[in-house]
Amino acid sequence: MATIFTRIINGEIPCYKVAEDEKNFAFLDINPLAEGHVLVVPKAEEDYIFNLSEDDYVSLQKFARKVAKGLKEAVPCKRVGVAVLGMEVPHAHIHLVPLQTEADLDFRKPKLSLPAEKMQQIANRIAEKI
Ligand code: 5GP
Repeated sequence: MATIFTRIINGEIPCYKVAEDEKNFAFLDINPLAEGHVLVVPKAEEDYIFNLSEDDYVSLQKFARKVAKGLKEAVPCKRVGVAVLGMEVPHAHIHLVPLQTEADLDFRKPKLSLPAEKMQQIANRIAEKI
């Protein structure tokens, strides 16, 4: 069965998309740690990021860097933090989180729930910078 991220990539489930290329897809995390929290996902359906083929892994990391640069321009922050967990969704992905402090990358803290209009605005702003 397709993963939830494959269904998002295929347009079966809506998302706030920020960028896409031949091999990769980026969209807002539905329950962000901070405004502008992006998930960067390979289109190849692989659970564990380090099991991706060499080509797909390199492509994902290059794409993530491109997205992170746009994200930093679009959402004022000190740094864009990077995390790989995969504890919830079995489809490899990289979290990109705009950071003001180290605590902004603490996955144990309560997640945000932003209105749809705000999420769309943030996604549009990031997409314009990529
Ligand atoms: P992880 O697998 O890295 O532990 O966490 C998965 C992340 O995906 C979580 O931060 C969660 O909020 C996000 N997520 C789970 N399901 C969806 C979804 O359907 N849409 C979006 N945009 N994000 C999701």
